[in-house]
Amino acid sequence: QSETLLAGLIGRGIGLSRTPAMHMAEAEAQGLSSLYRLLDMDAPERSQLGLAGILSACEACGFDGLNVTYPYKIDVIELLDTLSDNARAVGAVNTVVLSQGRRIGHNTDLWGFAESFRRGLEGSATDHALLLGAGGAGVAVAHALADCGIARLTIVDSDRGRAERLAEQVSRNRPGVTAQATDDPGAGIRRDPPDGIVNATPMGMAKLPGMAIDAALIEPAMWVADIVYFPLETELLRVARAKGCRVLPGSGMAVFQAVRAFELFTGRAAESERMAATFEAL
Ligand code: NAD
Repeated sequence: QSETLLAGLIGRGIGLSRTPAMHMAEAEAQGLSSLYRLLDMDAPERSQLGLAGILSACEACGFDGLNVTYPYKIDVIELLDTLSDNARAVGAVNTVVLSQGRRIGHNTDLWGFAESFRRGLEGSATDHALLLGAGGAGVAVAHALADCGIARLTIVDSDRGRAERLAEQVSRNRPGVTAQATDDPGAGIRRDPPDGIVNATPMGMAKLPGMAIDAALIEPAMWVADIVYFPLETELLRVARAKGCRVLPGSGMAVFQAVRAFELFTGRAAESERMAATFEAL
């Protein structure tokens, strides 16, 4: 267990991230002195160093670890010594633990969504889920759904090839799950209605309003999860809630990825309610 926390977030356009505040408030509540820096790679002093340079600099300065976000979650892998099983399965890293000269890559987005799902949609039917979006976050969510007991997963992406590759990847990594891609979610839903729907496209973000599925396809018996969390209540969740669906907002994934990262950085258990309260207060 560490007595201090020194960490940071590497990415671009990360100025509004709530992750530093969550880590520092949790550290403070546990009596640790902490510093969690936003390491925006658009800053000239960092863009010159590049990802490899900034990783080495942080390591040399004694950082316990780093979170990694857009656009580095895949590029960082070749700079690491080992990967956790989840990071290897997803093929992306959002958390790097720096320990005794070694760099260990984890994917806490996967566990973050899974934990949010287990807590927020406890007892929901898990036979069949529809996943909208097979991009970076969608890959982690697909594996998380498998870990939450989803038996069949239908994947939609406006880029059909991505949906197909993800279906193959999930079938390979989680052999208990039957995963398939589809171009026509409407026909699929009518033929074989899912128990629930997860949005992992950017649709619904403040700068990209709307939703990636026709509202008429959502039935009251379905649960509906979004991973977009700005705004917290997306159009999809508003529509679903109005129909009487159980809903799961994207804030849970954002909080629980940080909960697990804190535990990896410090070796201490984090109090998730406290980290959620910090997230919500911002
Ligand atoms: P990405 O760009 O890698 O992937 C998005 C995917 O959605 C792409 O494959 C794209 O083709 C597809 N898509 C876009 N519009 C679509 C539509 N209308 N129908 C079907 N497919 C469509 O982005 P990402 O990194 O996967 O992130 C997606 C969103 O997830 C982000 O906007 C972000 O808000 C959110 N996110 C949340 C968390 C969290 O912790 N809650 C974590 C990561 C990302």
